[in-house]
This record gives sequence, C-alpha cells and structure tokens, in this order.
Amino acid sequence: MANDSSKILPKEALDVAIDAVSEILGEAGVNSVVKHANLDYLLVNGKVVDGQKPTFGDVGQVTEAFFDIYGKRGATAILKRTGRVQFQKWNEAYPTALSAAGLALKAMAPAARIKTTLNVVKLAAKHIVHVESEVKEDQDKIYFAAFQCPYCAGVHADQSYCLTAVGAIEAVTKWATGDIWNVKEISCLAMGNKACVFEISPT
Ligand SMILES: [Zn+2]
Repeated sequence: MANDSSKILPKEALDVAIDAVSEILGEAGVNSVVKHANLDYLLVNGKVVDGQKPTFGDVGQVTEAFFDIYGKRGATAILKRTGRVQFQKWNEAYPTALSAAGLALKAMAPAARIKTTLNVVKLAAKHIVHVESEVKEDQDKIYFAAFQCPYCAGVHADQSYCLTAVGAIEAVTKWATGDIWNVKEISCLAMGNKACVFEISPT
C-alpha cells in the first residue's frame, strides 16, 4: 500500500514535533521551515490552530523544506536531533507508555531491551498516529519497519528520507540501554519500497 499523504495526523502529535524543532531552531526557524513548506496557515505561536487537520503529507512537505533550506548535510543533522528531542518529548507527553516497560528492562540483555522498547513504540504508533509497524531481529541486528510514515509521505526520493525517525530510534536505543546504537534507514517508502525499515546494530 502506498504511503497515504492525506492521512490525518493528530494535532497533539504534531505539537510535540513542533516543540522539538523549536527547541533546536527557535521559533523563527520553525516559522521559516513551515513557510517554505507553504503551511504557515497551520500554526499560530508554534501550535497547530484549532480546527486544522494536519496530514502526513504536511509533515513530508516540512521534511522536504528542511532539505531545501539546509541542504542534505544540514538537514540530516537537524532532523536527527529533532527526532532525539521528539522521543524525549513524546515520553513526557505520554509517560505511561514506557514507564511500565522501564522496570521490566533491567533484567534483560541490551538487544532485548531495545526490542521490548520498540514494541511499546509500535503500540503507541498504532494508537496515537495509526501507523502499522513491525519489530524483527536477525542475528545481531534489530529491524523496525513502518508501513506508513509521515516523514516521507508524498515524497519521491532517490535516498532514504526519514532522518527524524532515525534520530528518534537512536534515542530509543539510548533510553533502553544507556548507549546509542547505529541506526540506519535501509529502505524507504519515498524510494518506492514497501516500508521504511530501520536497521539497528550495536556500535
Ligand atoms: Zn522513509
């Protein structure tokens, strides 16, 4: 199934994402990116205007704006940082999701901790943004596959695009194990693949 860019993104989820960008680029930075994406009507004072229904495609357009404004290198650094901050903010906004897992993790090996945490993320993704995903393990690597993805919705690219998700998954590995593992997007809906797949391996 194609990545549906008309899919509605809950306002709360987008507010968390905007907060994260604002922490990194400041409000002026948020405004210039949103304006470049022709989405300035969606926000007032850094919050989604009541009654607006932001879509996955809007987030895809914002990701493209980052690439246009900051170039590939700049956008990569900013989006990965945004993803890391987004995970922290998401954890604050929805504290119960991970607190139960946190206690159980202590007795597990690092890879199992990451898998358990990603399974919580998978449930939250389904519940909060209605995204289907899958967690798998193969030898010493873990894979997280998302079958819909706001970060690249509506985008056609010849490279993987979902650097915000890479940063967020890096933050998951740090939260679960105390170390940042290597995270790379090995297939992307923007490239015509059937999922955005993130490969997670120990450093
Ligand atoms: Zn992707």
